[in-house]
Amino acid sequence: MKQVSLASDALVVKTPGLPLIADLAATLHFAPEQGHIWLAGRRMMLVHVRTIGIARREIVNAVGYERARAVFTRQGYEAGAMDAEVAGKVRPNDPLFDAFSVGPQLHALEGAVLVEPIAFEVDIEKGHFYAEWHWRHSSECGEHVEVFGIGQSSAGWTQIGYASGYASVYLGRPILYREVECIAMGHPHCRIVGKPAEEWEDAEEDLRYMRSEQLHATTATKPPASARTAASAKADRWKVVGASSGFNVAFDMLRDVADTDAPVLFQGESGVGKEMFARNLHAMGSRAAQAFIAVNCAAITESLIEAELFGVERGAYTGATASRPGRFERAEGGTLFLDEIAMLSLPAQAKLLRALQEGEIERVGDTRTRSIDVRLVAATNVDLREAAAAGTFRTDLFYRLNVFPLRIPPLRDRRADIPLLLEHFLDIYRAKYRKDITGFDEKAVSALLSYDWPGNVRELENMIARGVILGRDGQPLRLHHLFTGGERLGDQRFALGKDGRVHAASEKDSAVNSISALLDSGRGLADVEREMLTEALTRSGGNRSAAARMLGLSRAQFNYRLDSR
Ligand SMILES: [Zn+2]
Repeated sequence: MKQVSLASDALVVKTPGLPLIADLAATLHFAPEQGHIWLAGRRMMLVHVRTIGIARREIVNAVGYERARAVFTRQGYEAGAMDAEVAGKVRPNDPLFDAFSVGPQLHALEGAVLVEPIAFEVDIEKGHFYAEWHWRHSSECGEHVEVFGIGQSSAGWTQIGYASGYASVYLGRPILYREVECIAMGHPHCRIVGKPAEEWEDAEEDLRYMRSEQLHATTATKPPASARTAASAKADRWKVVGASSGFNVAFDMLRDVADTDAPVLFQGESGVGKEMFARNLHAMGSRAAQAFIAVNCAAITESLIEAELFGVERGAYTGATASRPGRFERAEGGTLFLDEIAMLSLPAQAKLLRALQEGEIERVGDTRTRSIDVRLVAATNVDLREAAAAGTFRTDLFYRLNVFPLRIPPLRDRRADIPLLLEHFLDIYRAKYRKDITGFDEKAVSALLSYDWPGNVRELENMIARGVILGRDGQPLRLHHLFTGGERLGDQRFALGKDGRVHAASEKDSAVNSISALLDSGRGLADVEREMLTEALTRSGGNRSAAARMLGLSRAQFNYRLDSR
């Protein structure tokens, strides 16, 4: 295979204030035999700049100015997020500014715009970020002027999305860039300013072009962290958060179906947040004022499932000393969410199907039927179609549930969401554990971005919860606060060694490291014990026996320790 490469020594041209671009240029390869162009490991495509203006006019005419701008901004966000993933690998040992400059310089190499630094202030320890750049010869703004002329608003839509996506993913927190001067507004050149989203007073205006409601909810309109209570953090627990294209596709589908009564079947790996999506579906629909009842089918034994779902009449069986309604009745008028529905036994599937077909249920031991008005939403991490083919799931029930299948992509396929999720969960657990954690340090961000996340969003949430417990007030979370459970980073397990460097480690090493992190945290044994007891109780959903098992204690020992505090 013959490849034509740009000779790296041909690119000694230096932009004032930026490192040489030769290392990036060396990653640019043309492979015309395959019809490929590669840059920093990503397939690229050359585009006629003139067609950008034509496309923009067409799209503005078709869907309107606001939606067109959103489309271009999100496209840029995704591209910037992708370039940020490679940035850490290109200049791993360079000073922060040079390493960060990979994005602006790739943007120039890609032919979008020449980016010149004006100001760059980053203090990762304190969570401070402020950056200001000149944009010269902006392809997008130039084309915008060609098509629309000079107007009232800035025109670097894709480019500002790129800058925001790049900085957000690079730093692991939502950074919003804004074009404060633009040739499309009659300025001599374009100038952009980037700050954490919450530091812009009116960030809503720009954020709605990225992920309207979601970013609103988690960044722009939230009160400062210090003013947040554990209760508001708990309410935030169910917000879905994201900005990646994979997230947006799923969320747009969710919004489309929310206001109907159609059954929805969420599919996706374990931990992707199917229940969060289901709760949002309920909250956005016309049943929002009624109950949302969740049932985990895997957690209820075969003998009890019928009573759980449909209720029991007094005396139906030994021990049924009082009549009680089932989940269907409790969800009346609202939404019933059946998680892990593939775990239902075939007899339970038959009863569920009958209830859905006839719109009525019968309590166990009851002679009369009750009509039900419930929206059914289900979730599964197995392929129900395959299960139906294999005979472990009823085909007729599958078709009844599969009216609107909605797949939620695994976290590794939507890495652009990681910065938003980090910020989101850090906020929640900072408030919950009353810890003044400033953010994440560089090594932690780079590890969080490159990690494969087999346990998806739930794993990320647990890691941050644990990190906040281990972290110290007034400091960012570091690698050894987060990767303490023997996670596999890349092909190997890594842990922080005594020399401060990350090296391959055994599970024993990582256990030892989490103990040293605890010692580093400077808290007494009693504090750590109380946090462990509380966290175990939270994770077990308030079940003291399960929490005790988690800690290797008897229930009595657990109660004694918890209650004596
Ligand atoms: Zn501009």
